[in-house]
Amino acid sequence: MASEDYGEMSGEDICEYLREKGLEKWADAFNEKPVIKQLELDDDFLAKKMGIDQPEDRQKILDSIFKIWPAAPKVFNDPIHGHMELHPLLVKIIDTPQFQRLRYIKQLGAGYLVYPGASHNRFEHSIGVGYLAGELVKALKEKQPKLDINKRDILCVQIAGLCHDLGHGPFSHLFDAMFIPKKMKTWKHEDASVEMFDHLVRSNEDLQRMMKAYGLNLTEDLEFIKEMIKPPEAKKKYKGRPEEKFFLYEIVNNKRNGIDVDKFDYFARDSYHLGIKNNFDHGRFIKFARVCEVDEQKGDGQKHICTRDKEVNNLYDLFHTRYSLHRRAYQHNVVKIIEHMITEAFLMADEHIQIKGSGGEMFTLSTAITDMEAYTKLTDCVFDQILNSTEDNLREAREILTKVVDRKHYRAGLCSFACYYGLWDEGKGPPSIVWTSTARKTITKHSKSREKRCRGFSQCTSLRRSSWFTAGRLILKVGELPGNNWNSGSK
Ligand SMILES: [Zn+2]
Repeated sequence: MASEDYGEMSGEDICEYLREKGLEKWADAFNEKPVIKQLELDDDFLAKKMGIDQPEDRQKILDSIFKIWPAAPKVFNDPIHGHMELHPLLVKIIDTPQFQRLRYIKQLGAGYLVYPGASHNRFEHSIGVGYLAGELVKALKEKQPKLDINKRDILCVQIAGLCHDLGHGPFSHLFDAMFIPKKMKTWKHEDASVEMFDHLVRSNEDLQRMMKAYGLNLTEDLEFIKEMIKPPEAKKKYKGRPEEKFFLYEIVNNKRNGIDVDKFDYFARDSYHLGIKNNFDHGRFIKFARVCEVDEQKGDGQKHICTRDKEVNNLYDLFHTRYSLHRRAYQHNVVKIIEHMITEAFLMADEHIQIKGSGGEMFTLSTAITDMEAYTKLTDCVFDQILNSTEDNLREAREILTKVVDRKHYRAGLCSFACYYGLWDEGKGPPSIVWTSTARKTITKHSKSREKRCRGFSQCTSLRRSSWFTAGRLILKVGELPGNNWNSGSK
């Protein structure tokens, strides 16, 4: 592949690096040069311009420098986006244990246990988001040179896309939305993504040097990347970029209207793997996107990423895809039941899972989120660890997961008296009702209008919204119900 122009590096930086790598003999020759252009750097240049006579010495130097300053992008093949060309710095980030960990975290958590095609992982989604972030920011730069988008901006936006999901735990949203809230209140996977990104930058040799080699300003740019992953509460607190470039914050995690490349990738990818149609065309959105100064009367007078009015139907399709993915997959009844079972198993196993973290300290399933070294080792693999365990203290958790793989799920059905779903475990005792706290709250809130509303589930519009599907689910653990086969057909 043809070499791209990756700019220049100061002779001083190359000198310092060669010293570190034990090549001090030739380091001073570089120190005398103000800058070295990457396009010039080859065997001929070292022989003629730097006066290094021995070919083997020249090779050693080139190998060493190109380790932190590779001259060509790499191509990744992807079922959704085709051939994705990625900058060498992005490849370096992908090739770290913190990023590789995402290979072992299912994008749709328990969704794979219902939809056999949904076996995709956070790994490919993250690469896709990094790629699309680059496509959108490059398209804006090309169409609107006045925006003054530079190479640093592009790289930072791509890195933020790549790293936005580093903090996901086992089975993705099951971990941060169902398991962790039972243990501690205020934690989101975005917090862990930022912490994991810091850990990734700190613990991988030569990464910071490589970032500098490609022109990043570490103080400003690392802050900028983290702000894109987890935006600060108030706009005034943004430090990475000045106000005229705030539109860059709308590419990866758009807090303003939710239209961002993260969704573009997972709508396309999830639909593909689930076998559900996606009418939204993100390629078209990227083609028609422009940064406009929004009228002060109607908006905040700032620059935002906008789209043509005639493209409104494409945006309707985006929200329709979102709705149908939630209805048909993310909130699928059996997915929710299995997620509930896995959460229950994780809660029982919590203290008995021991993961070694920094300084040799041991962490549990829930406390691992406080130590990124331990958290790097925590993936979906914990499911198999529990399932294949022999320890007595994991017996209860193991039994639940065995039921999951044996497809002996808690059963779900419509509770006609309250218009809520119930789950029950066929193998356990006499009928009893165990209300989850969220279900109780929801029911109390709706108790007055319940009779009126619950004449039929289909009439119960407020309960049909996906949030109520989850919040309103109550757990019924009852003995085997005769003739019950309500779940057949939902796999
Ligand atoms: Zn994502």
